[in-house]
Amino acid sequence: MSTKAYAVLEANGPITTIEVDVPPPTGRAVVLEVTHVGVCHTDTHLREGGYNLGNGNLLRLADRGINFPMTMGHEVVGRVVAVGEEVVGCAIGDLRLVYPWIGCGECIHCLAGHDPLCARQASIGVARPGGYAELVSVPDEKYVVDFDGVEPALAATLACSGVTAYSATSKALDAREPTDPIVVVGAGGVGLMAIATLNARGHRNIVAVDVNPANLETARELGATTSVLATGEDSAEAILAAIGGPASGVIDFVGSSSTANSGLDVLGKGGRLILVGLFGGELKAPTVVMTIKMLSVMGSFLGDLQDMREMLALARGGQLPSIPIQRGVLDRESVEGSLSQLVTGGVRGRIVLSPSTASTIVEH
Ligand SMILES: [Zn+2]
Ligand SMILES: [Zn+2]
Repeated sequence: MSTKAYAVLEANGPITTIEVDVPPPTGRAVVLEVTHVGVCHTDTHLREGGYNLGNGNLLRLADRGINFPMTMGHEVVGRVVAVGEEVVGCAIGDLRLVYPWIGCGECIHCLAGHDPLCARQASIGVARPGGYAELVSVPDEKYVVDFDGVEPALAATLACSGVTAYSATSKALDAREPTDPIVVVGAGGVGLMAIATLNARGHRNIVAVDVNPANLETARELGATTSVLATGEDSAEAILAAIGGPASGVIDFVGSSSTANSGLDVLGKGGRLILVGLFGGELKAPTVVMTIKMLSVMGSFLGDLQDMREMLALARGGQLPSIPIQRGVLDRESVEGSLSQLVTGGVRGRIVLSPSTASTIVEH
């Protein structure tokens, strides 16, 4: 088999159509024909070859074993077209959602189901060829998941923003009462998903913080019980006043110096600051306060396969907000155009691309 792929050949290079061999799957491997692929803002960074850390520093992907040419696209739904001889959980013709954050499969983290912690992670659409292509290969059938009952374009986004939101809420909910205040900073796309997730998981004290009143209104509709209009500066006092005491957890979907430091300042004993946003900044923590209050600061990036399964269950139950979806045709021009649109910031909701051949666009 071979596939057309829309790849980046060098850092900051244009999207280019290439022809790539796809070996027939063996063992537990699966090959899918891409029917839906979400275009994620992360891809604009991957294309640049790294993440800006501020002060002129770049977190270089090449230093993490990620090289060009790169076929991006990690939010993938596809139809199974070939399976290895050991595959039992799916058959040719099945429509499946791909879990992209794949680890080595052998280390202690992978065996425990925590692929994103693997030191030899090789994610689909990053280190392995992704969904901006006709075909995508997945090395193990466990990573292709039945999403019956969920709209395919929504399912695709659950592989990225969905697992990210879910995983962060798990860290915040660990050993908490449903009435302990959990603060969500940044009520944009992923933050709103987290608020809906906390609510769906039975949490009853959710504090939304944002600089935009419209976002706070949506946050309330999705389950936030308290909202705080931030000014962009230190919001700790305003948050403490709104809660009427310290918070048990803060999930920071912004990750600036001011949000992270305000987040730390509102925590009570045993509190957790969970950092998710990649805005960039620095955290200054008084060591004695960290000790006496027994505080934790945790980074949360992506999520496990099990998180994606549980997020799908919430979507099936109608408990997640419907994100506006902007649809496009999966070809070189659309991949290029969608990435440019994300850079300039003109996208409401998510862009999801599908091949133009009508037979492959199948909705549930
Ligand atoms: Zn993504
Ligand atoms: Zn591993």
